[in-house]
Amino acid sequence: MANNPSILLIYPPVAKPCEPPAGVARLARVLRAGGVDCRVYDASQDGLLALLQLPLEAEDTWSHRALIHREDHLAALRSPDLYRQADRYKRAVMDVNRALQLAGQPAGVAISLANYGSKDLSPVRSRDLLRAAETFEANPFFPSFSNKLTALFRDREPAIVGFSINFMSQALCAFAMIGFIRSRFPATRIVCGGGLVTSWMHIPGVGNPFQGLVDDLVAGPGEAALLTMAGGHPPGTDTGPSYDYAAFDRARYLAPRPVLPYSTSRGCYWRKCAFCPEKAEKSDYRPMAPAAVADDLAVLAGASRPLIHFLDNALSPRLLAHLIDNPPGAPWYGFVRVTPHLADPDFAAGLRAAGCVMLKLGVESGDQDVLDALSKGVDIATVSAVLNNLKTAGIATYVYLLFGTPAEDLARARRTLDFTLAHAHAIDFLNLAVFNLPAYSEEAAALPTVPFYDGDLSLYREFAHPQGWQRDQVRRFLSGEFKKPAPIRTILQNDPPFFTSNHAAFFRMRL
Ligand code: SF4
Repeated sequence: MANNPSILLIYPPVAKPCEPPAGVARLARVLRAGGVDCRVYDASQDGLLALLQLPLEAEDTWSHRALIHREDHLAALRSPDLYRQADRYKRAVMDVNRALQLAGQPAGVAISLANYGSKDLSPVRSRDLLRAAETFEANPFFPSFSNKLTALFRDREPAIVGFSINFMSQALCAFAMIGFIRSRFPATRIVCGGGLVTSWMHIPGVGNPFQGLVDDLVAGPGEAALLTMAGGHPPGTDTGPSYDYAAFDRARYLAPRPVLPYSTSRGCYWRKCAFCPEKAEKSDYRPMAPAAVADDLAVLAGASRPLIHFLDNALSPRLLAHLIDNPPGAPWYGFVRVTPHLADPDFAAGLRAAGCVMLKLGVESGDQDVLDALSKGVDIATVSAVLNNLKTAGIATYVYLLFGTPAEDLARARRTLDFTLAHAHAIDFLNLAVFNLPAYSEEAAALPTVPFYDGDLSLYREFAHPQGWQRDQVRRFLSGEFKKPAPIRTILQNDPPFFTSNHAAFFRMRL
């Protein structure tokens, strides 16, 4: 190990500070098993908590209250009691978020627990990202990341720094950090990967728009590329767990018990839904052997009984059946496709007994024609049976609906409203989204489009809706009609602000 270059992996702000970053933990595991000296730095969690320590001025009563109580709120967000009182929880989250807003104001940026927005710089324009790198001292996280990076480099200078950039909310701060490292430690090799970088690299002709600043952009899983750069050896017959979370300070995350993010597969076993990047990017489906998942979870979960957050695009029925027979010994939740298995009372009861507290379901629409046009492979009667069955089994449901798809019109959107009302008793949480047309999907080629955001890294395009059901009409329908009935308002009020599904399960489990 001594002769290999060392690597520092960074998770930049802003991402929800409630669980450690799985992609970084996975890379760290593979690199260490390959003999590479690898350290990790969750700059998002660290940076957000540092902002919340700043001495700040309040001009109104709410801000004053938020600043006075921020330490108490942070402590409460890490304790079970708060998750038994929805109103207190919401107040704590909104106050903490208010304090973050105040911390961003001097720099002219909007910081929240889940987002980062600048009025001057856009994360979908490469020239703005380069500008963020040039003006790194103006970034509100600069004091925390410059101190931490300086200490890490002083301790042991890494030859390679890898950034895991998964969300648009991380891009501008990632580039500010890159600008700092380039300016202070110019010999460092800088590598960027993660979900957002992977999507950028699928933009035709994009190349590396950050030449001279970023040395390498890696699409897809980064293990092999980083191992090669660092001169590590393939892990070989090493059979340890797939993630290394040991270096993350679990006690600092805003959750009432540790969360263990874990993926049993890459890609999606279905890979047919229209507009889905898994289909457009033709990603392979690579599941782990179920027995290996069970072994892994037994080691990773240990005695701490974390909440397991399955990150798979969709947990396969085969894996679910394995979990029923081999419960992981800790509560868990994740995304599933709606399949007939879930309408089977014994299967659902088995899932519940195996620790399943919540399932996330991409229902998308209550109209069969829309579901067929999206190639969801689901019939609406099965969706109905699944929701009722999961309710009976005691498994909470987090339902995702998508409005404004090309096959939808007002009448079909109203069918989704009727379906939701008819199943409101069986829906715990609802996510309502307005459809964005992925710019490089197969289906986009058949629609007349114009750029959605002005930016070379924009992943979406505006389109002329075939039924004239445009985004502003969809939004008016959602606010003026869909969200009005009391049963739907009640479900929407259940949604944890900012943390959404990452905290939802805590409200449906014994803590
Ligand atoms: S199930 Fe989800 S990930 Fe799989 S193809 Fe459909 S939308 Fe994509």
